[in-house]
Amino acid sequence: MGHWDRKNVPQKGWECIDFYDLCADANEVYATCEMCGQERIRYVHVMRHPDFYDDLLVGCVCAGKMSDDYVNPEKHEKILSNRSKRRKSWLSRTWRVSAKGNDFLNVKGHNVTIFPAKYRLGHWCFKIDDDFNQNTYEDKNRAKLAAFDLLQKYNEKI
Ligand SMILES: [Zn+2]
Repeated sequence: MGHWDRKNVPQKGWECIDFYDLCADANEVYATCEMCGQERIRYVHVMRHPDFYDDLLVGCVCAGKMSDDYVNPEKHEKILSNRSKRRKSWLSRTWRVSAKGNDFLNVKGHNVTIFPAKYRLGHWCFKIDDDFNQNTYEDKNRAKLAAFDLLQKYNEKI
């Protein structure tokens, strides 16, 4: 099972090029580590090797062994799990209502506003400061979560 005993798969010298949470926008999504074929993973470490044709999506334990780095894989999982907790509490923050009747939140110097989609009845949009997002969402909460995800991409802790 897995790649650990295969001769054509490098055992060391892998580099982690990305990491992400499979449950970032859904609940209970898991995968199996592509290195050992056994570890059930929620947090994916994307590993790359100059002598291997493909990236491998692996769990924390294998990521540590493959890169010989036993510190960063755990740190990355901590970042993802903190982000997940913040995302959960995002909706229960105290959103205020603007004079126009739109939910808004001022956070870390940004103004996040949720408003009804103009051309799609019953759908919702958001803007961050003066940047109007182009997507529409089926309900307010989805729009709020999308705003959270975008703010994360600005790489800010919110
Ligand atoms: Zn594994």
